[in-house]
Amino acid sequence: MTVQSGVRIAVAGAGALGSAAALRLARAGFQVTVFDPAAPGDNASGVAAGMLAPVSEALFDPASRDHLDLMRRARDLWPAFAEGLGIEIHRAGVRIEGSETWREQVGRKLLDLDLPADETIPEDWRIEARPALAALRAAAEAAGARFEVEAVEGFAPGRLLLAGGRIETFDILVVATGPGARDGQLAPETAALAPIKGQLLRMPSREGDVVVRGEGVYLAPGATLAVGATMEAGRDDLEPDASATQALRAAAWALRPDLDLDAASIEVGVRATTSDGLPLVGWSKAPGVMLAVGARRNGWLLAPLVADMVAAYLKGDHPGPDAAAMDARRFEKSAPFSLGE
Ligand SMILES: Cc1cc2nc3c(=O)[nH]c(=O)nc-3n(C[C@H](O)[C@H](O)[C@H](O)COP(=O)(O)OP(=O)(O)OC[C@H]3O[C@@H](n4cnc5c(N)ncnc54)[C@H](O)[C@@H]3O)c2cc1C
Repeated sequence: MTVQSGVRIAVAGAGALGSAAALRLARAGFQVTVFDPAAPGDNASGVAAGMLAPVSEALFDPASRDHLDLMRRARDLWPAFAEGLGIEIHRAGVRIEGSETWREQVGRKLLDLDLPADETIPEDWRIEARPALAALRAAAEAAGARFEVEAVEGFAPGRLLLAGGRIETFDILVVATGPGARDGQLAPETAALAPIKGQLLRMPSREGDVVVRGEGVYLAPGATLAVGATMEAGRDDLEPDASATQALRAAAWALRPDLDLDAASIEVGVRATTSDGLPLVGWSKAPGVMLAVGARRNGWLLAPLVADMVAAYLKGDHPGPDAAAMDARRFEKSAPFSLGE
């Protein structure tokens, strides 16, 4: 399906994926409106630590281990994507810290990935997530996109149903609802998504610019220090739960015994994941519906890649080498999965 520029596109969701896609589409000449009932940044994208970290993810997230090349391609799109948006990319890298035994284990995993067993990973980068989201929105608005505080409840080509029963005319719906809309009402493929609650601790920053990875924890510097993050499979509530952060606190204290973690605030986001760890990107079985959803721990890393793919699908261009791996309909025939994390 190819869509002519000037066509009206609704994007459901103003997180990293929806905002990046809206920017790409508005710049491509489409008439774009982004709908989201939440306040700006009140989502996983606003909570995130902002790491653009293919190697760390391949090392520490089993579901991402096989996707190193894809994640590197996504990271490599960032410099051009960020240009002119005022999003600074911090390239000080990641340092592995911890017991000798654990560092040796990490070293062996690095060798398995054909990487040197060094204690610094220079190719993993970082951005500031919340300001980046604001920058994407500002750039999308400057390119003509509109943002409305409203939830999308249904769609058929030509007819977008909004909360409260309002109906608007749109030709295409891009579903970028993160862990929302998993009931399949907007697109049946979202039934393949499962939530993973993530909590991180934020406190005044005093680290340098390097992200520190320890056993079971990271310390990501920035405007505030992010100590993260829990992986609570199957949970989609946004309640801060100090008991679930105990292991995180213990792991952080093992690295920095003087951190005042009791004074830290807890931030909560919910990630959406598929069973293979990659998002659903491409045309839904539902007519006129495009998916950009389910980026697990890597929504920021993948945002430029997903946005490029969404724009390519809509313009009728080739969506690139990662289209099959992220195909929105790849779970159609498989049984529902259990997270088992
Ligand atoms: C603690 C934590 C740390 C993380 N750290 C990193 C990191 O360092 N690097 C990285 O790359 N990723 C990280 N992530 C993952 C990243 O945050 C997510 O992958 C990313 O935010 C997903 O973006 P999204 O746009 O798909 O979804 P979201 O950010 O969840 O946005 C979805 C939006 O859709 C809206 N919505 C829902 N239903 C509807 C509807 N019916 N109509 C309209 N709008 C709707 C919601 O209100 C929400 O604003 C982290 C996540 C967490 C929780």
